[in-house]
Amino acid sequence: MKLIMAEVFNSWQGEGGSIEGSAFGRRQIFVRFAGCDLNCKWCDSREFIDASQVSHWRYEVRPFTGKFEYKPNPASLDEVVDTILHLDTGDIHSISYTGGEPTLQIKPLNALMERMKELGFSNFLETHGGLPELVKEIASLVDYASVDIKDETTKATENWRELVLREVESIRILREAGAKTYAKLVVTSETKIENIRWYAELLRDLAPLVIQPKEPVDIPQTRLMELYHEAAIVMGRKNVGLSFQVHKYLNVL
Ligand code: SF4
Repeated sequence: MKLIMAEVFNSWQGEGGSIEGSAFGRRQIFVRFAGCDLNCKWCDSREFIDASQVSHWRYEVRPFTGKFEYKPNPASLDEVVDTILHLDTGDIHSISYTGGEPTLQIKPLNALMERMKELGFSNFLETHGGLPELVKEIASLVDYASVDIKDETTKATENWRELVLREVESIRILREAGAKTYAKLVVTSETKIENIRWYAELLRDLAPLVIQPKEPVDIPQTRLMELYHEAAIVMGRKNVGLSFQVHKYLNVL
């Protein structure tokens, strides 16, 4: 079983705010997969989007030392499991599978999640959610999930509305399988109120939503409050929160 990896490291989860299903402020081992089928304007993993260009993956030698070593891709399942175990500091909330888009490598992802469950860890999936047919294959192994709702301003794909509907379907599949799942929406100063209303209607009675300003933050506070208000009016006041990429302020990975 082979994986095209980007990096493996130990850090704090900086996103998700206080919403149910979030692991904000929890320590995790991050397993970043190479490769993504979307092309978001604000992507902060751009160098990992084209998996064929990611010849090596890097892993932390020891947590928070900032020292990395490199290995060639593809990685074997055992190599990745050993790397995770080596980075286990005994206070790990969950293993975060992120990217890129981890579900594009669904078979090795499934095998890795199974192994980590057997070893006593919880699985936290970070996905763009655009591939519900693949999400279905691993849903029963997922304990927590952060699923993107891609805003129109992200320009992730040609058919944005269809993408949003597929993301909502992934959320439904994960919730039905018992995973604590929330939706994450990155907003900008250009995000439209009517789009917020549409996302909120799709998510009502399904999953909570965190609204996360794009970094660096360009959205005025008053606008952010308006977007929050609109979502909370539709979804209920307990089902919306803010998220910031706090790991960037802490200067950790
Ligand atoms: S889904 Fe994530 S990894 Fe893929 S292009 Fe968008 S931001 Fe980048």
